[in-house]
Amino acid sequence: MDSIASFTIEFRIYTPEGELKIIKCTIESTFNTEDKVMILQGVDQDVTAQKIFERELVKHERLKAIGEMSSSIAHDFNNSLQAMVGNMEVIKLQKELSDSTQIGLQNIESIISDIAGRVVALQKFGNIAYADSSVELIDFNELIENSLKQTRPLWKDKKEKEGWSITIQSDFKEIPRIRCNRGELKAAVYNLIKNSIEAMPEGGNLSIKTGVKKAGIFATFTDSGVGMTEVNKEKVFEPFFSTKGFELGRGLGMSGAYRIINRHQGDIRVLSSEVGKGTTFEIIFPFVKQEVAQPMVINQSKSNDSLNVLWVDDDLIITKLVDTLVKSIGHKITVANSGKMGLKHLESNPCDIVFTDLGMPEMNGWELIDAIRKKFGDAIKIIVVTGWEVEESVKKEKGIDIVLQKPFSLEMLKKVFSNI
Ligand code: ADP
Ligand code: MG
Repeated sequence: MDSIASFTIEFRIYTPEGELKIIKCTIESTFNTEDKVMILQGVDQDVTAQKIFERELVKHERLKAIGEMSSSIAHDFNNSLQAMVGNMEVIKLQKELSDSTQIGLQNIESIISDIAGRVVALQKFGNIAYADSSVELIDFNELIENSLKQTRPLWKDKKEKEGWSITIQSDFKEIPRIRCNRGELKAAVYNLIKNSIEAMPEGGNLSIKTGVKKAGIFATFTDSGVGMTEVNKEKVFEPFFSTKGFELGRGLGMSGAYRIINRHQGDIRVLSSEVGKGTTFEIIFPFVKQEVAQPMVINQSKSNDSLNVLWVDDDLIITKLVDTLVKSIGHKITVANSGKMGLKHLESNPCDIVFTDLGMPEMNGWELIDAIRKKFGDAIKIIVVTGWEVEESVKKEKGIDIVLQKPFSLEMLKKVFSNI
């Protein structure tokens, strides 16, 4: 009897136009009773699109997992930092601290503020600290020009000193404004330019173009540098992928740029790259549909009489600290270690302001806020105290008056009271 065996192989080909295609070949052999191949048939299938899609999916999932992990680390750090700041503020409330204690406290404060800055960067990587209020309409051409000026020491001064020269060509078309967070996008563009320069250790040319096409507003960055292999092209947006050694912080430039641009509903990709010839990256942003609300302006001049405060947080160290801090500002405070206890207190006691944590067992902060708004309308001010940044739209929808970012200082707490 005849028997059939089949197997598949995958290979890459280049079309005469130089385009890479991934081909899946399925081969089926039919053997006769003497084990001789009688029929050999094969089907070639172009699976390029499917492979690209799968790869994108894996990349997306991987970045998402790293993002979630960094968010949860950031969250825990924030709580610990809050406890540290709170304790320091309590120590500072004591009169007659010695000079050396005061200097020590100042040093610790500056270290904490350093760590808090890093935590914000972690959160940003985790996609959490992205608030609508920090988004504005900006001129992309101007932002690129600006980044070029900022990177000038890298492509001009340093290169000339080394005896090489890098020329920059720019071809900026008139483009509509894009909706983004200026600081974040600048960091992404800065990294693109820096990478291009690093790819041209012996000088070369960087050409930057902007314009409009069907998909949106684009910018391309073309360098005449070392280029990338096929494998590197696939890995370029992976966190910690670097061909430049093992220094700390290496390999986060392009993965960071990828996340930032994606967060703005944009896209970044390697348009082309060839070893020894150079690389072109392309960024595309969607056209803006609606104007952006102006960021909230904080009024700092109001003062209040003594207020009744309820502070809800499941962390006993934090409630103990805020009890001292709020009293030091001259307000009355009751603390509750769960949403349920807080709500019970509100039913039989007057209250002007509720401060609440978000992540709590049983009844979480969001449920508590809903319950307060349902029972008391907007008679009570609600301040959310959290390490996460809460989006403007969520704030509005839930009726949150102010978001107090952890870790907060006594000064920030005072500001909240003068703003309500
Ligand atoms: P780093 O620059 O710290 O290595 P990045 O995330 O910025 O990390 O870039 C990752 C890697 O991608 C680089 O190490 C390099 O191999 C490659 N790469 C990025 N941009 C370019 C470019 N313009 N030309 C060639 N290779 C590049
Ligand atoms: Mg880099």
